[in-house]
Amino acid sequence: MMIRIGKAEDNDYVANDLHVSRYHARLSREKDGSLMLEDLGSTNGTYVNGAQIVKKRISPADTIILGNGYALDIRHVLHSDNDYSDQFLLLKEIYARYIEQKVKIQSSNQFKTRLFQTLPFVIPGIIGLFIGMTNKDNPALFGVSLLITICIPTIGIYLAARQSSKIPQQLQDISNQFKIDYVCPKCGTFLGEIPWESLAKRKQCHACKAKWIKA
Ligand SMILES: [Zn+2]
Repeated sequence: MMIRIGKAEDNDYVANDLHVSRYHARLSREKDGSLMLEDLGSTNGTYVNGAQIVKKRISPADTIILGNGYALDIRHVLHSDNDYSDQFLLLKEIYARYIEQKVKIQSSNQFKTRLFQTLPFVIPGIIGLFIGMTNKDNPALFGVSLLITICIPTIGIYLAARQSSKIPQQLQDISNQFKIDYVCPKCGTFLGEIPWESLAKRKQCHACKAKWIKA
């Protein structure tokens, strides 16, 4: 977490006061969970409980003054935390898994579809050949062989068609889940089928300005 505080509009917390510098201070959270306030070389200084500081561990109960009297409510500042980089990082895995699943479904369906289309023609061919070779003079068996040769490919074509019609449904399911999961961690806007790396280059959400990549 890193909250930039100052008069400039592009701070995370805008402190609109004559004596506050454009980029006055920043508040961050240490690894142990404590809060660190740091003055960014402001013109009029930063004060914690009356003493000027450069960098100091603080608690939300401390009295913080920026410049000549701008009181900073740390609880309020913490609400302006706009750093979503930890949550954004989790999206990397979601995108990779989605693409992986999609490719898997597509290639396994291609294989099954081909199998259903090919085998029914190959098997009756072999059976027909076998029956023809061993029972040359039996018209009843010739009829059976003809039936097999016509019926089984029809079933094969039907199965292949059914198999390929499953693709849109399976893809639809993972695509629906992807639309729920691959969203801006702050505002929930779906990020589209855009690779995580490309989004990371944007650094922040176009819609809500949440920070995706730490500055
Ligand atoms: Zn957003």
